[in-house]
Amino acid sequence: MKACLLRSPARVETNPLEFTDAADPVPQGDQVRVRVAACGVCRTDLHVVEGELPPRKLPVIPGHQVVGRIERMGANVSRFRIGDRVGIPWLNRTDGVCVYCREGKENLCDNPTFTGYTVDGGYAEYTLAPEGFVYPIPEALTEQHAAPLLCAGIIGFRSLRLSGIEEGGKLGLYGFGAAASLAIQVARHWNVSVYAMTRDARHQKLALEMGAVWAGGTVEEPPEKLDAAVVFAPAGEIVPAALKALKKGGTVALGGIHMSPIPALDYNLLYQERVLRSVANNTRQDGADFLRLAAEIPIHTAIELFPLRDANRALNALKNDAIRGAAVLQVE
Ligand SMILES: [Zn+2]
Ligand SMILES: [Zn+2]
Repeated sequence: MKACLLRSPARVETNPLEFTDAADPVPQGDQVRVRVAACGVCRTDLHVVEGELPPRKLPVIPGHQVVGRIERMGANVSRFRIGDRVGIPWLNRTDGVCVYCREGKENLCDNPTFTGYTVDGGYAEYTLAPEGFVYPIPEALTEQHAAPLLCAGIIGFRSLRLSGIEEGGKLGLYGFGAAASLAIQVARHWNVSVYAMTRDARHQKLALEMGAVWAGGTVEEPPEKLDAAVVFAPAGEIVPAALKALKKGGTVALGGIHMSPIPALDYNLLYQERVLRSVANNTRQDGADFLRLAAEIPIHTAIELFPLRDANRALNALKNDAIRGAAVLQVE
């Protein structure tokens, strides 16, 4: 098969992914083999490729927002049939037995594997995943439009949940890439007023077009105090600004897997029972709940398509805030 291989992490400006031939993966046990139709490009892929996440497998095929059809199965697969369309997310597998898994917090599992990081992912013509961790994808969605829902969408949804934002509230979104452009649609569906803080003027414009009541620069102070905020941009200097924008008792949820150092905070920014918390991965329940809601709203995904062989170009565009909505690799 054709695949984009990362042999060693490097800045994306050096085009570190190699478009090359790789062995077709063979499904074992509970694994399904998916013929990839589309794979979303996530900021986490950028962190994997540039080595901000320490390498766990090299070479590795990145990509964890995979949509395609099952075309081969391990001997123990019972949930699906050949030809079923599924989505493969970041959380590839958990151990099912650690204290977190037993408490229903599988997103915090002690022994997880991650698609496109600790096991090969979807920047390829074929990939594998355990049947228990993939999602059926409704036929109403195209593969290209469904792909960004699998991480940007689900993580954005979990971030909204953990921010505690309630119907009719005021929400800040920091950074306006793929996750925020999906989260704003859920927020608007909940009748929440959205304030978008992002460095790129094109993204500010997009936020306003998508129903934000106000848009400004990354650390600009919104005109109203916020009930909650979600930070998607991986820049630690946003944290004090987001806390400063909050009402007493409000929450800032950090949606990214990696962030540059957070500067020293004046305690007054946190005092009055403000909460600062991170968001780590998601449970399968988050995924199922979000995909149901996405179909109900229905959520529209703005996408920019790139051929598989141009994955480096897609990552460079993502790094430069040049994507309107979500970047998606078209594989078929
Ligand atoms: Zn576990
Ligand atoms: Zn992701």
